[in-house]
Amino acid sequence: MTDFLFPPEPPTGLVVQGEAQLYPVRRIFCVGRNYAAHAAEMGNTVDREAPFYFTKSLSAVVPSGAELPYPPGTQDLHHEVELAFALGAPLFRASRAEAAEAVYAYGVALDMTRRDLQAQAKDKRRPWDLSKDFEGSAVFAPMLPAENFGEVGPQKIWLDVNGVRRQEAALSDMIHDVAGIAAHLSGYYHLGPGDVILTGTPAGVGAVGQGDRLEGGIDGLEPVRLTITAPE
Ligand code: MN
Repeated sequence: MTDFLFPPEPPTGLVVQGEAQLYPVRRIFCVGRNYAAHAAEMGNTVDREAPFYFTKSLSAVVPSGAELPYPPGTQDLHHEVELAFALGAPLFRASRAEAAEAVYAYGVALDMTRRDLQAQAKDKRRPWDLSKDFEGSAVFAPMLPAENFGEVGPQKIWLDVNGVRRQEAALSDMIHDVAGIAAHLSGYYHLGPGDVILTGTPAGVGAVGQGDRLEGGIDGLEPVRLTITAPE
């Protein structure tokens, strides 16, 4: 069966530095509360036993340099800068060592968040989809192959809004590390090439508005940029 009622969406691809071809994205998983200082600023305690997750749709993805019209349904759009990693091999019920081997590339990403809707969802014990999974909410810088990045450790992660530093931490501040996250998540999904995981944001999240220019970085990786424009 190759005929469709209407044209399916074209595949979603991420740029990989040094590669002519795009990395095709299948799924996007995001870790919550993975930096103690960010959990504290949100009034939460951290779970050191296991990470927890939410997901974003492929329609949320935009490349670095995009202009994002201020999204509908919120009056408190927040920035979250995060380390993203992309898998390059199948992973199911994997060990930490197997998980570490399966990481294909790293990149800087923004997990844009409708914070007011997230707060309402928490209050009402409802899912986070409206607050986390919307068009333009997953912004990706070009990825760097893992062998060119080396070990995840003391690298700085930061985010500036209009040139003013808002978020800054070290990747080693993450409660659950890359191998631990991938191994844990592989206990629930048949992970594999195309699966991208955002590893949570450090403290300093805050609101952005029309005209703001966001730039997020991690030592050794290409920065991610986003400009907020007028609502549609
Ligand atoms: Mn996040």
